[in-house]
Amino acid sequence: MIETAINCCELVSHMEDLPYSELVKCYETMSNTTRRTELTEALVSFYKKTPIKVLKKATYLNQGKLYPDYLGIEIGVGERLTERAISIASGLSVEAVRQLYRKLGDLGSAAQQALESKKQYSLYKETLTISKVYDTLDQIAKTSGEGSVDEKLNLLSGLLSNADPAEAKYIVRTAIGKLRLGIADYTVLDALAIAFAGEKEYREDLERAYNLSSDLGEVAEAIASGGLKAVRSIKITIGRPVRPMLAERLSSAKEIIEKIGGQCSAEYKYDGERMQIHKNDENVSIFSRRLEVITHNYPDAVKLVQSSIKADRAILECEAVAVDLQTGELLPFQQLMHRRRKYGVERAMEDIPVSLFFFDILMVDDKDYTIRPYTERRKKLQEIIEVGERVKVAPNIVTNHPEELERFMQQAIQDGCEGLVVKDLHSSYKAGARAFSWIKLKREYRSELTDTIDLAIVGAFHGRGRRTGVYGAFLLAAYDSEDDTFKTTSKVGTGFSDDDLKTITNELEQYKLPHRSPRVLSEMEADVWFQPALVIEVIASEITLSPIHTAGRGRIRQDSGLALRFPKFTGNIRRDKAAEDATTVNELVEMYNSQLKKVEASPEELQR
Ligand code: ATP
Repeated sequence: MIETAINCCELVSHMEDLPYSELVKCYETMSNTTRRTELTEALVSFYKKTPIKVLKKATYLNQGKLYPDYLGIEIGVGERLTERAISIASGLSVEAVRQLYRKLGDLGSAAQQALESKKQYSLYKETLTISKVYDTLDQIAKTSGEGSVDEKLNLLSGLLSNADPAEAKYIVRTAIGKLRLGIADYTVLDALAIAFAGEKEYREDLERAYNLSSDLGEVAEAIASGGLKAVRSIKITIGRPVRPMLAERLSSAKEIIEKIGGQCSAEYKYDGERMQIHKNDENVSIFSRRLEVITHNYPDAVKLVQSSIKADRAILECEAVAVDLQTGELLPFQQLMHRRRKYGVERAMEDIPVSLFFFDILMVDDKDYTIRPYTERRKKLQEIIEVGERVKVAPNIVTNHPEELERFMQQAIQDGCEGLVVKDLHSSYKAGARAFSWIKLKREYRSELTDTIDLAIVGAFHGRGRRTGVYGAFLLAAYDSEDDTFKTTSKVGTGFSDDDLKTITNELEQYKLPHRSPRVLSEMEADVWFQPALVIEVIASEITLSPIHTAGRGRIRQDSGLALRFPKFTGNIRRDKAAEDATTVNELVEMYNSQLKKVEASPEELQR
């Protein structure tokens, strides 16, 4: 009791802390509005009364987090444990709490109602402050090992016992990672600019600091304590990811050259995983496009960086692409995603090694390169990369001719890339921005493939999530009249309604086989195999070369078959067709060749 009394006295010297209920008021206003301006206003008035000391904590809490994303620290409280904590704090049984949860569909609201039904409030309830809530959640996040479940339960139930019902709602949502207020980072930046710099126009400075640091809490603290000067002094730092520059898209080479205003640099656009690599002597960290730490998934990439970057300290960007061990060919993006699993990294690394294709440099030996023009960055990149079998700089050409650009794109596609990223020679690295300084040119924007294709279902994959109980995707094959076989060209899972999936799953039942039909040539393993019988109609953005599909294998390139890119079911089950009436392998080969001809079209055609 004495301790509680002291806590109450300590409390609201407002210079140090702020009652958590103030944050809850702001949350309530934000959840009840549909207008963005009101969202900003609620944040502005909240920030104005928040003491500097807790501004950082409040900013993370607003995002439903405790730290910036890139640190990957989750509060990590499960729903079961939270139900028990609510039960202890409210006096209701766990079953009663669970029933409330079932009825309301949200554990936060269940906590609120549970506490509202509480008969007696303790006399010496501690007033929760932002620090108290934050620090307790932080302790929960850091508790691990033996006895940690009990410890977490104590901490959370203690917090809820001191909360009023509305506070409990938001504490619970934050603890289980479902705060979801839907405030974009940019709304927070607007609010900070208005609250502390007086004008929204200073948002640009805040945005730049955020894009370089990826840490909203730090930006908030800087503007509140040191004003714009402090914000402007936030610099690019090794170990802290920079928000990536993104590309706009246009559908023709001519438009791109006009937009960029003449000469530009076109680079191969690889289809892999974007990596932002931070090298600090031998220490290497890798961040994904979404700025998560992915270093542990790529020990081979770490070694490649250690041996081929000739700078002690640097931040670079590359695309990591899976390569076929046997053929050296680039593999599709999906292959790389297998490597994201937590276990078996060593094995994945052996089976699916990566090559790194570098395309930008953001910092070298503590010099900020983001402010330098593309040409200078590219020159530096080439200087510090020791090119090897698995480390390259993305090939480029500098041109102002649409035809040359188109030819280069065709070459890129033949080399297993998606197309090109065309870059403004004079542009700086615009962290966090999608701008026309980078423009992507991909084949599918030209919608080459307008014809539908009819393919036989030869295999299926069990559905997950909403699709549990039916098949979620199908393996499709074209018919090869030359040897009366069905050769795979696509795995399709999009375009199906729930009803379609039920119908197709039922219809396929009669064609089920205990193993692959001998008339089906496939290198992909399906969960279930069928007699080729049911034909469905699909559309796709284009036909590409593929190391995994067997249709047309060796016809265009040795060891490559033909695959549909972005295939989609049209809704049409071709019951009027027998499996042997499906689109043939020869037709696919023709379609592939006619696509190439279109890319090689005359300059007049290109200008259309
Ligand atoms: P997409 O799905 O088309 O890859 P995206 O939304 O992931 O698009 P964009 O910014 O639109 O990203 O396109 C650029 C992406 O292309 C980068 O994120 C990067 O992963 C990839 N890429 C591959 N090669 C290059 C290159 N040479 N220069 C820049 N980006 C490249």
